Parts: sequence; C-alpha cells; structure tokens
Amino acid sequence: MRLYDTAKSAYVDFIPNDVVRIYVCGITPYDSAHLGHIFTFMTYDLLQRRLEDLGHKVEMVRNITDVDEPIYRRAQQLDIPYTELASQEIESFHSTLKTLNFRSLFAEPMASDYIDEMAEAVSKLLEEKIAYKVGRDIYFDTAKYPDFHNFSGFSERLLKGLFKLRGGDPGRVGKRQPLDFLLWKSVDDQSDPARWDSDMGHGRPGWHIECSIMSSATLGVPFDIHGGGTDLIFPHHSAEIVQSQALGFPQLANNWLHVSPLLSDGEKMSKSLGNLVFANDLLGDYEPSVIRLALMQYHHRIGGEWQPELLHDAQELLNGVRRVSTKTDKLNATNLISKIRSSLDDDINTLEVVDALKEFVRSKPGPQSTSTETLQIITKALTLIGIE
Ligand SMILES: [Zn+2]
Repeated sequence: MRLYDTAKSAYVDFIPNDVVRIYVCGITPYDSAHLGHIFTFMTYDLLQRRLEDLGHKVEMVRNITDVDEPIYRRAQQLDIPYTELASQEIESFHSTLKTLNFRSLFAEPMASDYIDEMAEAVSKLLEEKIAYKVGRDIYFDTAKYPDFHNFSGFSERLLKGLFKLRGGDPGRVGKRQPLDFLLWKSVDDQSDPARWDSDMGHGRPGWHIECSIMSSATLGVPFDIHGGGTDLIFPHHSAEIVQSQALGFPQLANNWLHVSPLLSDGEKMSKSLGNLVFANDLLGDYEPSVIRLALMQYHHRIGGEWQPELLHDAQELLNGVRRVSTKTDKLNATNLISKIRSSLDDDINTLEVVDALKEFVRSKPGPQSTSTETLQIITKALTLIGIE
C-alpha cells in the first residue's frame, strides 16, 4: 500500500503492522455532520476497511474537541449551556455516521475527559521553561522547536497569515515570538462554565495540547498514522508535533495523511461562512450508499467544489451495479474486487474505485443468474467501500 505522507511530501510505502493505530482529529461539536467532515472521515473509514480486509486490526481513534472557543460562542448565541449544545451535536453526528455505514472506532476521546492530563502536561512544560506566562495565560516557546515552522513546508509569510486566520494571536504583547501558541487559557470569570482547577489556577487547555494528550493516552506514541483535514497542518498538527517532542516523544506519528477540503461556493464548508451542506438533509432524498459514492468522486488529496448532481450520477452507478450483480460471472466479480483493492492501496484512490464500478457495470453479463459464490465476492467488494 502506498500513501501520500505530508511530513515527507512524498508517497511512502506503508507497511502495516498487525495492529494499525490511527488518530484522526475529529469534530468540534457545533456544526458537526456537514458533508466536508463526512468526506474527510470517509477517507479514513475506507483506509480502515482496506486494512481490515488485509487482516489487520485497526485501532482507529477520532477525538471530539468539546473544549474549544467556537462551541462557547455558539452556545451563547443559542442561549443554551455549551454542554447541551455539544451533546446534541455529538448525538446527531453519531447517528449520521452510523446511517452512512461508518466502521466503529477503537476510541472516541472527549477533550473534557482529559483535562487533568492536559493541565499536568502544560505544568511540566512550564516547569521546564519550554512554556512561559503572558499574564496568567501560558504559551509554548516555539523558538526551541524548529519543526513547528518546518513541518508544513510553508513560507514564513504564509505561516503568519494562517496562524492569525486559524485562531492564533500573533500580535499579543508579551509573547516571545508572534507564532507562539496558547497552551492554557486562564479563566477568572466564575460564571464561565468551561473552567477547570489546576496548578496554574482556573482555566482551560488550548486546542493543540488536547490532541497531543488524547492521541498519546489512547494509542501510545508513536502511532502509525495521524490524520485530519489539510487545514490542520498548520498550526494544529505542527503544534502537536513540537508539544509531543517537548514532552519527551521525539516522534508523535510515523505517517501523516491529510484530506483536502470539500468546497461549497468556492470556500471550505464552515459554519461561519454559512455554506454548509448537511448529510442529514441529503439523507432525506438519497440512500447512504449514494452519498458515499458521490463523495468517492473526489480525490482526498484534491477535494473540490461540491456538485449536487454527483448524487444523481452516484444513484445511476449504484443502480447499474445492482442490475449487473444479478446476472454476472465470477470473472467480472473477481475483477471488481481486485480493482477496488488496488485502488484503495494506491493512496485510497476513490476515483479509481468509481472507475472499477463503472467497468463492472459495462462488463459482459453472465450466461445465467449470478451464483451464490460470485454474489459473495461482489458483496465483499462493495463492503470494502461501505456500500450495501
Ligand atoms: Zn487535533
């Protein structure tokens, strides 16, 4: 199997161990189940399915960032407790993924369950002078860790722009370097529902440290693959890497696999832009397999503009596959499964998977109704991509 590794900016031969440990940055529960997220997570679901097909046990971990500023803001707008917003969103997210036939996870850590570990880590970094205080907030001193700047391969100018765009505070007075990132935010306001007691006083962890702690706590370090959207390469994953180094783990993950965004109106789908397409809305009109097949018409490294007409194409394709499945022979079925396998092995190339299905639809019908044995091969092939 070959995968494109962001850290090496190259395809690498991925040689899986018996157990493959994967950590994917999950949702912040306030705009959860939109198609952009489904597209990202489906890539890892396909990887999981293929690895399981090869006989590996996959320990897939996808966290829930239930401690983060956007949830508090959204909960305030809605005038409900943020915990209520989070649990509603998580429930709806789970139900959507289940309907869309996602494989189950090894673990789904919630940031709020690991606050003590996060606080302890920040405390340690402070003690070792890798972190420092600005007022009562605590920042990571990136000067000592060049990988923070190097991991993405982005120019310094781009790093600065992205840092600000993605919630950083390059201009804060008192910081040693503009791109030093927040590890612990002090929260004095007693009415703030998201504050925890710690050695450093009341507050909450920064977003980046959350994933360093949740990944190492659930999988151990280094694990095999770290995933997430390309928008997480900097600063989130760059920060994770150097935090883990500072905490004594030179290598957090052996491979980095990122998924490009699905766009809507030319922009990444996001709540703030109001351009979200919800899987739940589509599920009213289309069966789950159609939605999966529509998303497979995008390559995970390219992403692209969401085109609703692809649902129609996907429905046609699925109808075709079902029609041909009733009267085909073993050779066609074997071709189908081997092409799906080799496409997934080629950096999860879903475009090739779709081609394999189209080829199957065009294949010469068998002389009689499909045998049970052949039908089992077809079912196995479709299960590999989560289609029923
Ligand atoms: Zn993360």
